[in-house]
Formats: sequence, C-alpha cells, structure tokens
Amino acid sequence: MPESPYPMIPVAEALAMILREVAPLPSVDVPFADAEGLVLAENVRAAEPIPQFPTATVDGFAVRAADSGARRIIGAQMAGEFAAVRVGAGEAARVTTGATLPAGADAMVMIEDTIERDGMVEITAPVSAGDNIRPVGNDVAAGQMVLPAGTVLHPPEIGLLAMLGKTTVRVHPRPKVGVMSTGDELLEPHEPLAPGKVRDANRFALMGVVRQAGGLPVDFGIVRDETGGLAETIERALPQVDVLLTSGGVSMGQRDLVKPYIAEHGVLLVGRVNSRPGKPVTFGMVGGKPFFAMPGNPVSALVGFENLMRPALLKMAGYKNLFRPRRKVILEHPIRHHPDRVEYQRATVIFHPADDTFTARTTGGQGSARLLSLHGANALLILPDGQSEFPAGSAVEAILLAEVGDA
Ligand code: AMP
Ligand code: MG
Repeated sequence: MPESPYPMIPVAEALAMILREVAPLPSVDVPFADAEGLVLAENVRAAEPIPQFPTATVDGFAVRAADSGARRIIGAQMAGEFAAVRVGAGEAARVTTGATLPAGADAMVMIEDTIERDGMVEITAPVSAGDNIRPVGNDVAAGQMVLPAGTVLHPPEIGLLAMLGKTTVRVHPRPKVGVMSTGDELLEPHEPLAPGKVRDANRFALMGVVRQAGGLPVDFGIVRDETGGLAETIERALPQVDVLLTSGGVSMGQRDLVKPYIAEHGVLLVGRVNSRPGKPVTFGMVGGKPFFAMPGNPVSALVGFENLMRPALLKMAGYKNLFRPRRKVILEHPIRHHPDRVEYQRATVIFHPADDTFTARTTGGQGSARLLSLHGANALLILPDGQSEFPAGSAVEAILLAEVGDA
C-alpha cells in the first residue's frame, strides 16, 4: 500500500492549526430583532436610566410614609399617563403598576393592604419610604455599560436592546458556508437508486450542522470526481462564501481529487488526523478562505465537522467559548476498540436522578458509513488510543452534543 504523503496529527494539533487560521468575520450592522445567536461587536451602553421615572411596582395607593391615619384620595395616576397629581400631607393617589409615582409621595401601598371608604383610604400594614417603588436608574444607570462587545445575543439581551432603544446593532455575521458533495456515485435524494449509486446524504446533514452552529449554508450541489468540474464549482463558490465545506474525495483512491486541489491552489495544513472516524479530514486555506474537506462516509463527515469545523465556525462568528461541555460517564456495557487511534463512539447518555450519575450506552454498530449511529446519539465517547478494553462500569469522557435525557 502506498504511504499517504500527509502526516497523521492528533486532533488537538489539527484544531490548534485550524483556529490559528480563522478569525472573527468583520462586523456588520443588523436590526436588533434579527440578532438572536449573533455576537456583539460593539459596546452597548444605556443612554437613559432604567427606569427613567420612579415607578410603582404594585397596584394601590401612593402615600407619604410619615403620615398616619386614613388618607384622603385626591386623584389617580395610571401607567403610561402622566397626570399632574401631587400627594400632600394626609393624602393618597390611586396608582397602577408601572405608573410614575406622583410627586410628593414616597411609598406605594398595595391595594391588598388598604380599606377604602367615603373617599378615604385606610392602611392596614406598616409603610416605609421607598416601599414598592423602583427608583430612577434602579435596574440600569444612565451611561452604564450594559452589553460589552463579545456578548452572545439571546432573548434576554434582545429584550435589553429593545429597552435601550438600540434598534441596530453591530455584530459578527453568520459565516456563509459553501457546501458541496463530491462523488461519481452520488444521486440527489429524489432520484431512484441505480446500480452503484447512493443518494447524497452528506450535503443535507452538513447544511444542518452548519445551521445549528450558527452558519448560513449555501448549497453548491454535487460535483463529480473530475478535476475540471471540481475546480469550476470551488472557484464559483469561493467569492460567495466565507468558508468551504466539501465531503468525499479525500482518501487514497485514484479519484480522490480534493486534497490535490487544495495543495495545488492553496495551502494544505491538515491532511490526516489521528481519529476514528475521520482520519482523512482535511483542512487548508484556498484564496484566503478556510477550506474543510470531510471524508465521504456520513459519520466521518459529521464527526469531523463536530470536532474540527464547529469550533472554527463559532470563532468566525465571534464566539469566545468554542467547545461543547464534557463530562465523565459510566459505561453501561463493555466497549472494545482498536487502540491505534482515538475513537469517538456515538452514544446515548442518560442522567439518573436517584443516584446523581450519568451512564452511557453506544448506539450500536459504529461503522463510519452507518449514519444511524448518530441517530439518537447525544454524546461522543472519547476512547483514547493505546487502550482497547473499557469494562462496564468504567468511566470515560464524553462530549455532550445535546440535552441529556433522564432515566
Ligand atoms: P470517499 O470519501 O469519497 O472515498 O467516500 C467514502 C464513502 O462515503 C463511499 O462509500 C461513498 O459512496 C460514501 N459517500 C461519499 N459521499 C457521500 C455523500 N455525500 N452521501 C452519502 N455517502 C457518501
Ligand atoms: Mg468519493
């Protein structure tokens, strides 16, 4: 067997090389309501305090705490209105939640603590100045830095932007990812099978994981194992996208043309990775853009994406935290594996509230073509190289891909 010309490097080393090459994308302005999941590229400060006026937090009566006895009701202040009511000594005003505290008053008494009769209100609980009021700037001070650059915008942050009147925000855009499948054997999903042919699964699965990682997939279809067509599609895609993602054509076959393309038109930085699945995962820079070439086997393509491309996409989108949570899990059954490389076995992790433990069982056959091994998997078990037997009950490290169900 001819030796591969590409050195086999550990996953961590490949990842470090990749992360050295990719940088957060130049920032753009977007409407704040479209910014869910995006990362701020500016500091957002409050122009005004929140609240901007002393605000009643209950429905009831605005009073002076120092007064005693029943107070005379002199008017009302409803939320959203501004009545020129002034509460003097021995007086009270009817006020609703969210309304401005009337001038002269220093406390709100909730309606439940009052008895109203003959235009007077009696208070049945102790009152102190400041009760049931949010003073000006209670939540956010004027000029306060509310959301620093680097913040990931999720619903609470989108709500804060709305509160601050910040209708346009500067963010790192979603990376546009050109996705294509390579292979003479590939059919579109709607096509009937023919001898020697398989349907293209990778393009659709990879576009899905790109979306889940916050990227925008751009579909460049199927490319045949032929240099001209491959080059034509890559060159058409490159100016339209921030990063390229292919699958297939990175092994040692005669028609595996993607590695040679990258080496010839750019710089090939990762040619083989010491992992199973995903040994032929390839990374390079072409035309100044990151180029990820995944193997054709669907599991290899998706696990390769998970381990090496997802962190890179997150970095391009401005994220600081690039990695999934990990935790030790207890094997429900023994696992044997080939100790020549690190293996990422697809598994279902389950939480047991009764004894506060996490257990894992694999999803069945772990062949790299068996896409069903990722169905129902919420974790990748990391089986290190150099050890072939993992007995039932032993603890192994797991990368958590999704929520963990309970027993
Ligand atoms: P390759 O990496 O091109 O040598 O392909 C490895 C295996 O993956 C072969 O059995 C291919 O038929 C299969 N394969 C390649 N691309 C795809 C794809 N897009 N969808 C499903 N299977 C694929
Ligand atoms: Mg192929």
